[in-house]
Amino acid sequence: AIVIDGLNKWYGDYHALRNVELSVKRGERIVICGPSGSGKSTLIRCINALETHQEGAITVNGTQLSSNFKAIDEIRRDVGMVFQGFNLFPHLTILENCMLAPMRVRRQPLAEAEERARHFLARVRIPEQADKYPGQLSGGQQQRVAIARALCMSPSVMLFDEPTSALDAEMVKEVLDIMVDLAEEGMTMLCVTHEMGFARQVADRVIFMDAGQIVEMNTPAEFFGNPRHERTRTFLAQVL
Ligand code: ATP
Ligand code: MG
Repeated sequence: AIVIDGLNKWYGDYHALRNVELSVKRGERIVICGPSGSGKSTLIRCINALETHQEGAITVNGTQLSSNFKAIDEIRRDVGMVFQGFNLFPHLTILENCMLAPMRVRRQPLAEAEERARHFLARVRIPEQADKYPGQLSGGQQQRVAIARALCMSPSVMLFDEPTSALDAEMVKEVLDIMVDLAEEGMTMLCVTHEMGFARQVADRVIFMDAGQIVEMNTPAEFFGNPRHERTRTFLAQVL
């Protein structure tokens, strides 16, 4: 579904991504971890063109990202993204948050958008919150809305950038549970997270990034049981 080939990105003089090669098949679940500043968010953000890259190619479901706005639109429709901050529209209700993009971008009729929004709010287990505003929900609930909102666009890939790291401990599990559900339903997922339990449970491959490079990529069993690189071992010693 996603093919990243020879990706290089600079912020000014700073070389943020170095020759990243990654291909993610349909239905695959990838967890990306690594120290702060290693380029995890940058990589995720390049995939839906929230950041531009200077070298290499990113192809999502056969469409290559370029500065061509049509290609960017096409890819963004197909790629759902959930951030650390929930990024909900504060002045819209939960239901309206979920209906906005499908109506504007996909031109869904109101009744259909509402039905789908209610369906996905039920799937993230908060159907009763539909008429509230984001500020009235807990962080965990808001993050589940953010996931439902992304799902309302029928993405073929979901990108997560530390979706639980802004949450209090007791709310982390309620969000991870939803992500596990999604993984079990076969969603293609690329998740930046330091939740190593989640990685063990659902990842097909775990990637360790450091200094803009993919240092190590392996199955969870190998990655955790037999890390090859010293930097990976040092990192794991800190997070496990
Ligand atoms: P964290 O775990 O803290 O979220 P990360 O692995 O997601 O870190 P990135 O946010 O991708 O790291 O940043 C990679 C590097 O690029 C960092 O050194 C960061 O300072 C730099 N960087 C990120 N965004 C910008 C920007 N807009 N302008 C300049 N430098 C940036
Ligand atoms: Mg980040």
